[in-house]
Amino acid sequence: MTGGPAEVKLVSNAMANATRRKIMAMLVESGQTQEEVSKSVGPSMLDYHLQLLAQANLIEVKDGNIVLTDFGKNFMESKAEKPTETRKSLAETKPIEITEVRQLLPCIADVTKFRIIARVSPPIGSPLKLLEPLFPRARYSEKIGALIIQKGNILITIYATGNVTMTMIKSEEEAKEVLGYLKSTINGAIASGITPVPREKVKVDHSEIYQYLPQTDCRVCGEQSCYSFAIRLVGRETSIDKCTPLLDAKYTANLEHLRAIMEYL
Ligand code: SF4
Repeated sequence: MTGGPAEVKLVSNAMANATRRKIMAMLVESGQTQEEVSKSVGPSMLDYHLQLLAQANLIEVKDGNIVLTDFGKNFMESKAEKPTETRKSLAETKPIEITEVRQLLPCIADVTKFRIIARVSPPIGSPLKLLEPLFPRARYSEKIGALIIQKGNILITIYATGNVTMTMIKSEEEAKEVLGYLKSTINGAIASGITPVPREKVKVDHSEIYQYLPQTDCRVCGEQSCYSFAIRLVGRETSIDKCTPLLDAKYTANLEHLRAIMEYL
């Protein structure tokens, strides 16, 4: 493997799918038979997934046995978390208070709901990223330095600098309830001093993306329909910016949710 653009593309395509990432994670421990892999990830399109991983030189399939290649082993090592380092970081983190709900503004997308701005004190800083596995649906974004959490329709963004925003909140009581949940979950992990174990990436499928698109099939993005656009987004063959109708104020919350979901891809 030379690491040229064509090879890099093969690897990134191979790893752009949750099933293939799961297969790779299984193989880190030890080689597996095709039957074992099939039991774990399901038989659907298994040959296709294995073919893409083999084309990227990440795995070798021989006589029904699957193993990582040397390149695949190096690749997975480069992606592994460093447990000793991360545990130390969380052990030094102080318990938080969520001091106040500083602003309660109507949501642009739905005026019956609110957008909340609150504050975490002290700011969590860089260990924030270690808290991602605490929440069933959460992703740390390096780009904005924030942990983005989805809780039903509510989208919570906790910034390393201490600000917290929440959208689609029904009332101040609900805001307090959600903030209480955040505080107790985060403080529970800090009190134990143990960094949550990183977990498999959250699986996103095109139907979840589709529900937040305008669903007008206007074709501005160059696709035949919103549904095709959603499929291409999951395959990383297009970008969310191509759907310019989403810039309309009435889709503000949809765009925010889509950007959060895209972090999981
Ligand atoms: S531009 Fe947006 S609304 Fe129009 S078809 Fe594409 S995804 Fe759908």
